[in-house]
Amino acid sequence: MTAETPRPGSRRLLIAGGGLPSLALALALKQAHGPALAVTVIDPGRADPGRHRGRAYALAAGGRRMLDRLGLWPRVAEAAEPITEMVISDSRLADPVRPVFLTFGREAEDDRDPGEPFAHMIEAEPLAEALAEACRGAGVSIVAAGVVRAVPEGAAIGAVLTTGETLRGDLLVAADGARSRLREAARIGWVGWSYPQVGIVATIGHARPHGGRAVEHFLPAGPFAILPLRDGGPLGHRSSIVWTERSDDAEALLSGGPDEVLAEIERRFTLDLGTLALEHGPSRHPLAFGIARAFRAERLALLGDAAHVIHPIAGQGLNLGLADAAALAEAVTEALRLGLDPGGPDVLRAYERARRFDSFAMAAATDGLNRLFSNDALPLRLARDLGLGIVDRLPGLKRFFIGEAAAARGSRPRLLRGEAL
Ligand SMILES: Cc1cc2nc3c(=O)[nH]c(=O)nc-3n(C[C@H](O)[C@H](O)[C@H](O)COP(=O)(O)OP(=O)(O)OC[C@H]3O[C@@H](n4cnc5c(N)ncnc54)[C@H](O)[C@@H]3O)c2cc1C
Repeated sequence: MTAETPRPGSRRLLIAGGGLPSLALALALKQAHGPALAVTVIDPGRADPGRHRGRAYALAAGGRRMLDRLGLWPRVAEAAEPITEMVISDSRLADPVRPVFLTFGREAEDDRDPGEPFAHMIEAEPLAEALAEACRGAGVSIVAAGVVRAVPEGAAIGAVLTTGETLRGDLLVAADGARSRLREAARIGWVGWSYPQVGIVATIGHARPHGGRAVEHFLPAGPFAILPLRDGGPLGHRSSIVWTERSDDAEALLSGGPDEVLAEIERRFTLDLGTLALEHGPSRHPLAFGIARAFRAERLALLGDAAHVIHPIAGQGLNLGLADAAALAEAVTEALRLGLDPGGPDVLRAYERARRFDSFAMAAATDGLNRLFSNDALPLRLARDLGLGIVDRLPGLKRFFIGEAAAARGSRPRLLRGEAL
């Protein structure tokens, strides 16, 4: 599809990158403003849902409310499994028993509606498919190209594409992932480092039901999480594995065939879910920490992993990106309703104010948790055993795990509260 030509007098938003938070932003703004706002998503892979095959994410309650408000939840609920309980243990690989230090999920939380799960595991491919289809249906243009650079031109910004074409808009959103070319080109600083760990993702089938329980074992090499998926597959039940290993060891652990990989998973597993089978994966993902020194430049907003990259220990990266999308959609909407420039400095400042502290708080918390748990030093082990006992008694800290770390529900963007823009 080529980019929609904005009608005379209407505004135009350009989004570089077609990941899940970008598509949610595009859909939210197109639904709210119709022909008054042309929305163009530019991605070399045309936001292809196939890129997400075999991935599943923990979607916090705010993200689910946002999908519901956008009319998407009924379309993707079939691909989502509520997490009813989260159980966290801390042990060594060879320990015969994994002592549980923290359990939560069933108790009532002030911020949640009665009976609302704190998170769902949602399969990313059907979610991306539903988002892309809804975007097309609403009139969002999806262009198959990369954005090479951005050229602010006073009252507009130009996005120079790999095709040689230049698109012009009022605002360009750089949602081009962790290695954002646009962030670098805009000379926005980045504080970050790589972890000496990789994330290994797989889908396993099992003969017994998981009962909606998510389990995370904090092992010395990093967390090993077993996350419930919707029933299906040859064995009837399925879970997603997100397994962090030292980079140096991952190669050897994954060098065997599916049986050897499954045996390694079983060594870490401990749940009694009956016969296990490897249904998808394993895939490997480099892990890093990073946060942009600013979330904006002239007519440019950073969004999603382009703005912040965090360790998957608490499964919150996508949730942060959806919160960015909700906050930016709100700031742009407020400007448009007042007849103001949607790419002006006030809009970008409001967006940055809404998101930077929240993102930094989550990034710092996940980094701290990873450092505290991914090692085997005895004093640290004692300290964290004590620490987890404290965490269990302080519902505020549990919020890091349920994706509601920094902001109380009342101050969160409207879409995350399930309200219209
Ligand atoms: C192992 C692992 C497990 C995770 N589990 C969870 C979880 O349970 N819950 C959760 O909330 N998060 C989780 N995350 C984090 C989540 O995957 C990311 O935060 C999220 O996918 C980021 O989306 P994004 O759109 O910002 O970036 P990406 O998904 O990287 O998308 C960037 C897009 O930009 C495009 N692009 C690149 N360059 C250009 C360019 N020059 N021009 C135009 N387009 C461009 C790419 O083609 C791509 O489509 C996990 C991450 C890992 C590694």
